[in-house]
Amino acid sequence: MVVRGGRAVGVRTASGEGVVARKAVLADVAAPDLYGRLVDAAHLPSRLLDDLRRFQWDFATFKVDWALSRPIPWSAEGAHGAGTVHVAEGVDELTRFAAQIARGLVPDRPFALVGQMTTADAARSPAGTESAWAYTHVPQRIKGDAGEDAVTGAWDEREAAAMADRVEAQIERLAPGFREQIIARRVLTPPALEGMNANLRNGAINSGTTSIHQQLVFRPVPGTGRPETPVPGLYLASASAHPGRRSTRGAGRHAAAAPCAPASERSPLHGPARAAPATEGARSRDIREASGRTCGVGTHVSRAVGPKAAAV
Ligand SMILES: Cc1cc2nc3c(=O)[nH]c(=O)nc-3n(C[C@H](O)[C@H](O)[C@H](O)COP(=O)(O)OP(=O)(O)OC[C@H]3O[C@@H](n4cnc5c(N)ncnc54)[C@H](O)[C@@H]3O)c2cc1C
Repeated sequence: MVVRGGRAVGVRTASGEGVVARKAVLADVAAPDLYGRLVDAAHLPSRLLDDLRRFQWDFATFKVDWALSRPIPWSAEGAHGAGTVHVAEGVDELTRFAAQIARGLVPDRPFALVGQMTTADAARSPAGTESAWAYTHVPQRIKGDAGEDAVTGAWDEREAAAMADRVEAQIERLAPGFREQIIARRVLTPPALEGMNANLRNGAINSGTTSIHQQLVFRPVPGTGRPETPVPGLYLASASAHPGRRSTRGAGRHAAAAPCAPASERSPLHGPARAAPATEGARSRDIREASGRTCGVGTHVSRAVGPKAAAV
């Protein structure tokens, strides 16, 4: 992020290219990346940085993609036509899964979300076949394996295959014959997911837990809740902002609208819950104050950054 005079005025890419912001910079990155790496700490209130140390990621994700010779042979009739199937033997098993993961254990019977892509969209694979995937969650920091494969979180080839087999075994229990239909599979471990998209930190798909303590005005840190950041002209557009994880891009939409929203239309709920301590001086500007000055700065910003603007 390029910040000039306390205001976000553009970005500089990894290859060194400078991009000038006409109106605002919308950051579609997880909050710890934005505040911990992309914006110099000198532009951020110390309280925000303190709060970020308590930021909690959501669970890691483990995913398998399959090419199947036929649709999944579910025992449960209702699962056949569903685009997505939630796979668990019942509430007791879900409770067991949740308890294991909360204790830092890799679950032995992974609760899986299964996507039946060809069922949902016939164009996904040849007629009569199925393109499918499943993902499950594992702890961010693995303390042990509730199963028998000694998965440690190294996610080498052995661990990746063992966990994929475990996911397949879970589906096989509820869809006998499933394994015989596998033509090919691709395994995506938590680090592999992060390698594909830096926002998926160790496979966390929500850009931070969406548990109640990190929702609404507590997202991504207490006292925020809106896309505005302490840096005028900079908006948090990722799922790290309220409303969090959404394929429908709720957070991005909020961030896109925010630079031009009149201050009078902002809900007090979404305003800052705290002002930064007065002792922090100019660096510790109140988020509401910052957001009120974001509209109509486009021309000024364009002039303010030249091609040699430095990221500070
Ligand atoms: C397997 C899986 C299943 C999911 N299932 C669901 C579901 O069923 N329902 C649901 O609501 N949500 C689901 N999600 C979550 C949903 O996809 C995310 O909540 C949503 O995509 C988040 O949007 P975003 O804009 O914050 O980030 P993203 O969609 O991740 O977009 C961020 C973009 O910025 C790029 N980027 C990140 N950091 C940098 C950087 N430093 N420099 C340059 N580029 C960068 C990334 O490569 C990416 O292109 C799922 C996610 C995964 C991975």
